Amino acid sequence: MKVWVDKPLCTGCQHCKDVCPVAVFEMKSRKDMAAANSDVAPDANKWTGTSNSAVLQKWKDVQDGHKHFADENDGTSGGISVAVNGEACILCQACLIQCEGECIHIIDDSNTEYKSIYA
Ligand code: SF4
Ligand code: SF4
Repeated sequence: MKVWVDKPLCTGCQHCKDVCPVAVFEMKSRKDMAAANSDVAPDANKWTGTSNSAVLQKWKDVQDGHKHFADENDGTSGGISVAVNGEACILCQACLIQCEGECIHIIDDSNTEYKSIYA
């Protein structure tokens, strides 16, 4: 399984890390480009330091206990999600329905792609 996050769309909500049963995701600093891009995201989905403007507008003022778009993770939210352990994915799809930014991509061994849809 290949798993990656479309980084400019990631709010830092940490839902993916919290729900994944096999620890695919880790939250990294938005200031550390190498760490933030240490999954298999294609170039178009890499972190360059700028969030998608539509996602930013949608989530920046939402007060739901999450640190949206914060540079660093505080253990509960903030930072940027990186799929550091995509090979472990069991395709339970829990992250796909919990991803605020609708930015998780999973490709299975038969090349079928799954994307997140926030419910
Ligand atoms: S679909 Fe894969 S990456 Fe997502 S929560 Fe389930 S095991 Fe983790
Ligand atoms: S659930 Fe989606 S938006 Fe939230 S931290 Fe994970 S990848 Fe980013």
